[in-house]
Amino acid sequence: MRRLSSGKWPAVGRPQERCECTQLVFPELNLTIEGVSVAGVETWLRIPEWGLGIDTGRSPDSIVRCRHIALTHAHMDHAGGLGQILALRKLWSLGPCTVYAPAPSCADLASVVCAWQRLHGVEFDWSLVPMESGCEADIGGGRRLRALAADHVVPALGYAIVSHPRKLRPEFAGLDGDALRQLQEQGTEVTAPQRRVLLAASGDTLAGALERSTELQEADVLLHEATFLDERRTRDDAHKGGHTHLDELIERAQGIQARHFVPYHVSQIYSADEARRVLSQRIPPDLLNRTTALLPGERVAPAGYAGDWNTTGQFPTVRPSDLTR
Ligand SMILES: [Zn+2]
Repeated sequence: MRRLSSGKWPAVGRPQERCECTQLVFPELNLTIEGVSVAGVETWLRIPEWGLGIDTGRSPDSIVRCRHIALTHAHMDHAGGLGQILALRKLWSLGPCTVYAPAPSCADLASVVCAWQRLHGVEFDWSLVPMESGCEADIGGGRRLRALAADHVVPALGYAIVSHPRKLRPEFAGLDGDALRQLQEQGTEVTAPQRRVLLAASGDTLAGALERSTELQEADVLLHEATFLDERRTRDDAHKGGHTHLDELIERAQGIQARHFVPYHVSQIYSADEARRVLSQRIPPDLLNRTTALLPGERVAPAGYAGDWNTTGQFPTVRPSDLTR
């Protein structure tokens, strides 16, 4: 995988518009992360190998295919697509879908989806699992979804995907195959399950979540939100929205043990190129070597938009009349 520090961008999909899907491939982990994440606009992640989606964004087909959808929180840019995803799963006979969400938001989410079912005249094939920090759910393939504490302006969670592969017990290291087989025949357990955090996503949160969950520190792949990246916005600006400033991740860089660090949920005030440049310049070298950001592609105006599209990193305000000119 190409790194930020190499000056090349690893997105497999050609990034053309700000919400075009980016795909990050981690071959040694047998893991792909597809996703879109622009703070306030749209965030979703999909791990196709696991049939798992984290957040729904605005209902991309990618998430429609997921049997398990973990919602970090119910802000529209993260969860607004849920109703349509369930409707499309029904239309395409994709079978049941299990949705996990912060427990305090479940009653409202259920009533919104129930209202959509009535409006749609169809019953969706879904179940809703209320989650709290520390809750785990089996998502198949020997993997468990674990909810992590998050501090946001509404009830929120991060998620870790944990597995327990069996590994040779340390006292038998160095024994050859025959010796191990003999021990097994005598009824000795030569292996023991070992906890491994395959991936963790912080969701929208203040930076303190990193200290609260060892899963965020230990994950093979850590996705952590980094809404603001430099002096254009202060830490206070980030905190007002319940978000993390890159300054705070840099301070915690030594605690990030992940093999791959994936900053995401970057604000739309940065173009993708700006974000890449700022991340490359500011993240300390040891962490930068392990960093692959999930950034949107180049920005293009919404279809039909005839106004000037500035390149300063600020999106113009698009009024409905602009779109039909
Ligand atoms: Zn949010």
